[in-house]
Amino acid sequence: MAAEKNKYTILISKEEISRRVTVLSEQISSEYAGKEILLICTLKGAVIFASDLARSIKVPCELGFVKAKSYSGDQTTGRVDISFEDVPDIKGRHIIIAEDIIDTGLTLKKLSEYFLAKEPASMKICALLDKPSRRKVDIKADYVGFKIEDHFVVGYGLDHNEKYRNLPFIAKLEL
Ligand code: 5GP
Repeated sequence: MAAEKNKYTILISKEEISRRVTVLSEQISSEYAGKEILLICTLKGAVIFASDLARSIKVPCELGFVKAKSYSGDQTTGRVDISFEDVPDIKGRHIIIAEDIIDTGLTLKKLSEYFLAKEPASMKICALLDKPSRRKVDIKADYVGFKIEDHFVVGYGLDHNEKYRNLPFIAKLEL
């Protein structure tokens, strides 16, 4: 197994992430009061974000999982491979897609088209990070943790060749 040898600098601390996740979950809990949410986590990158978010949301919250892959190393392939790992019935449900980062927007465009075709009662997107300068398609998140510049970032679920996902902060990787 290769060692984690790239240098990195912390961009968003563990404390900042925690504070922001609390704010997002409070906003979601108040907007969905009296409703049930189906929170769909995009694997693998959003797994830590979705876990923290789900645990601080105060309304009933079921979890679903999709696996989406568009990056190889630090480069987007421009192709999005999606497998629907464990998604319950969508029809009539209030779904929120939890995504780690929006880059070109291709992944979320493909996911949102797929889910909208299944007739949810409502669909929103909650992204931890957003790199608006990289967008190739018109897609916007309803809830955004942090807007960032065009850096390749790792940590808090985000990887580089499967490394760094367990860092508790978001870091800019030197490639
Ligand atoms: P999009 O389809 O919006 O171009 O890409 C979204 C996916 O690309 C994310 O879910 C993530 O897996 C990957 N990605 C985009 N930017 C970064 C980044 O800076 N760091 C990491 N680790 N993954 C990224």
